[in-house]
Amino acid sequence: MSKLAGKVAVVTGASKGIGAGIAKGLAAEGASVVVNYASSKEGADKVVAEITSNGGKAVAVQGDVAKAADVKRIFAETKKAFGHLDILVNNAGVYQFTPLEEITEEIFHRQFNTNVLGLLLATQEAAKHFGPEGGNVINISSTVTAVNPPASAIYTATKGAVDSITHVLAKELGPKKIRVNAINPGMIETEGVHSAGFIGTDFQKQLEAQTPLGRIGKPDDITPVAVFLASSDSGWITGETLLVAGGLR
Ligand code: NAP
Repeated sequence: MSKLAGKVAVVTGASKGIGAGIAKGLAAEGASVVVNYASSKEGADKVVAEITSNGGKAVAVQGDVAKAADVKRIFAETKKAFGHLDILVNNAGVYQFTPLEEITEEIFHRQFNTNVLGLLLATQEAAKHFGPEGGNVINISSTVTAVNPPASAIYTATKGAVDSITHVLAKELGPKKIRVNAINPGMIETEGVHSAGFIGTDFQKQLEAQTPLGRIGKPDDITPVAVFLASSDSGWITGETLLVAGGLR
């Protein structure tokens, strides 16, 4: 029996990268999946097509998680498409490494608005839509909160906030049978990491040298962990932040 049969999941930022991998992984275990995206309709449609051609259920829903009205619409469309909600994966995120002297208000707000405000707005809305049997929130944080790389003060601060929010909301929402956990990936080769220019750099080489398992990750390294946290196999786990990083810390 599939681990997530009958469940409905929203995965934010699922048009590419880690989110696309998680959306496909949840669908492969029987969940109906909302593939959220901000601007990459083509990417989201491709993820949906892959899921449906494998016999799964998915729809693409546009929405900027940093805008409350968009977030409301994402969950309204989820209800319309699939009737209820069981799982939220807060994956949408942006990263821009910036040395202290180059930090601007714009760079700060772009990352905090998506990575922190967006995650809070989506979780707030999901909590209204979860049924009496509870719900499951999986936040995609980062191993940067353990490694603290130089020039990452803003991004690492956003993910530090995500770790703290995970601990707080696990306590706040536990009485409603809503579990809240985080996955903290190490560097994962995604479209975003390519366009940020991390691949092939000394930073990548340094991370690999510090990683006991000696390599950066792929979205497929994260997907099964998200499936585990989304399923009843992890039913007694809440408030955890799980480093999934080949031992890097
Ligand atoms: P990516 O390849 O750049 O993909 C980002 C996804 O997020 C895209 O689907 C994008 O949609 C969506 N997105 C961005 N801003 C959004 C917004 N305001 N509203 C809705 N969707 C939005 O990123 P990734 O590397 O897979 O990273 C995904 C998550 O993992 C992020 O939270 C990141 O911080 C975290 N993470 C990544 C790594 C890594 O090394 N890759 C490591 C640790 C943690 P559009 O394409 O439509 O804009």
